[in-house]
Amino acid sequence: MKTLNFSKLRIILCMMALLAFGLFFVTRNLNDTRYITPPNLESAHLSKRILCHRPMRTGAPQMSIEIEKNGKVILHNYGHGGSGWTLAPGSAGYVNGFLETSKGAANLEKTTPITIIGAGVIGFFTAYDLIKKGYTNITIVAEKFENLTSHNAGGLLAPVSMDNDPKMQKIITKIGIDAYKFYQSIAKGSHEDFKDGAVIVPAYFEKREDSGLEPYVGVVMQSAKDVVLDFKNGTKRNMVAYDDGIFIDTTKMMARLSKFLKNKKVKFKNKKITSFHEIESKFIINCSGMGSASLKNDHKMISVQGHLIMLKNQIPENLQHMILVYYGHHTTKSGHAVKRSFYMFPKHLEGTSENDVGVIGGTFIENATVDTPNEEEFNIMIEGAKRFYGML
Ligand SMILES: Cc1cc2nc3c(=O)[nH]c(=O)nc-3n(C[C@H](O)[C@H](O)[C@H](O)COP(=O)(O)OP(=O)(O)OC[C@H]3O[C@@H](n4cnc5c(N)ncnc54)[C@H](O)[C@@H]3O)c2cc1C
Repeated sequence: MKTLNFSKLRIILCMMALLAFGLFFVTRNLNDTRYITPPNLESAHLSKRILCHRPMRTGAPQMSIEIEKNGKVILHNYGHGGSGWTLAPGSAGYVNGFLETSKGAANLEKTTPITIIGAGVIGFFTAYDLIKKGYTNITIVAEKFENLTSHNAGGLLAPVSMDNDPKMQKIITKIGIDAYKFYQSIAKGSHEDFKDGAVIVPAYFEKREDSGLEPYVGVVMQSAKDVVLDFKNGTKRNMVAYDDGIFIDTTKMMARLSKFLKNKKVKFKNKKITSFHEIESKFIINCSGMGSASLKNDHKMISVQGHLIMLKNQIPENLQHMILVYYGHHTTKSGHAVKRSFYMFPKHLEGTSENDVGVIGGTFIENATVDTPNEEEFNIMIEGAKRFYGML
C-alpha cells in the first residue's frame, strides 16, 4: 500500500514538473522581450556615406560553362545581386565543379594555368575553392582590387533580394546552406583557414518571410522566435528573431581571403579585360560582376544601387545584432523605383577606432548607377532608422 502511494506521488510530481516546465516555455516565448539600446544617430555619430551597386542578373546568377570553337573553356560565375556574400563559397564550388565534369576540361591538370576575371568576393572564393581542389597556377585579373561592392556590402547571410529562377531555387538553397556551414565554422573558430570574419548574432525581422532564412530552418538554423524589441525609450516593436543569424564582416573577410590567396602564390594582375580572347590561358573563370554586362554582352545584368552609412563612436556591445525592416516601394527624385528598407549590422572597418561600429542601410534601386547617385536617399534612410527606433 505504502509503495503504491509513493509511485502515485512520483507520477503526480513528474506531471507537475512537466506542466511547470511547459508553462515556463510558453510564457517565456510569449514574453521574450529583448532590451536594445539603439545606436546614436546624431550627425556627429554618422561616418562615411557609401554608394555601391549590386550586380544583379534577372532570373538567376549565371553559373555555367561554355566551350569555344578554339577550345577555350570559359566558366561564368556572376550576377549574384544582393546575395553575393551569401552565395559566394557555395557557387564557387558549384561552378568550379564543371571543370571536373566537362569534356572540354579533359586535359586539365593541377598545374594548368587558370585565369579568373574579377577580384570581388566571387572571384576570391572561386580562387580559394580552386586552391582547396589542388590547383596551383591561378591568376586573378581585375580592373579594380579595392573599394569594390564586395568590400562595402552589409554582410547578412540570407538570399534576400535574389530574383530566383524557380528551376534554380533548389541549387541556390543548397549553395546558401553550404555557405551557412562555411561561415558558421569561422564564427565558431573551427575553420582551418580563417579565424575571423564572421560572427553569430541575433537577426531581427518584422516577418519570417522577410528574412529569406526559412529554407535554412531545421537544416542548419533554429526556428525563429516571436520577440518584443524594447528600445528603453517607450518604443517597442514586435519582431521575429533568428538567434543563430550570421553576420559576415565583408571588409575583414576580403582582407583575409586576399592574404590567403597571396600566400598560396595566386598572381594578382591589374587590367581591364575587353574580350576573353585577350587572355592567354585556355581556362577562364568570369567573375566580373557588373562587368559581364559588356564582357559577356549579358542584357540580363542590372545594377541595383544601394546606400549605406557607417556609424562611429558607438558602444559596440549594444550593436551586436542585425535588424532588417522593409518600407515598401517608392520613387526617387530621379524617377527610379526604389525599395526602401532600414537595416543595421555590426560592421567595423579595420584601421578605424574600436568604437566605430555599425552600418545602416539600405536602398534597392534598379538600373541606378554612379551617374544617378540619388543622394537624398541617405537622409531618407537616416529618418527611417530614427522612426524605427522611436527617435522622431
Ligand atoms: C549596399 C549593398 C549591401 C549588400 N549586402 C549584402 C548582404 O548583406 N549579404 C550578401 O550576401 N550580399 C550583399 N550584397 C551583395 C554583394 O555585395 C554582391 O553580390 C557581391 O559583392 C558581388 O561580388 P562580385 O565579386 O560579383 O562583384 P564585385 O565586388 O563588383 O567585383 C567585380 C570584380 O570584377 C572586376 N571587373 C569587372 N569588369 C571587369 C573587366 N572588364 N575586366 C577586368 N576586371 C573586371 C572588378 O574590377 C572587380 O574586381 C550587398 C550589396 C550592396 C551594394
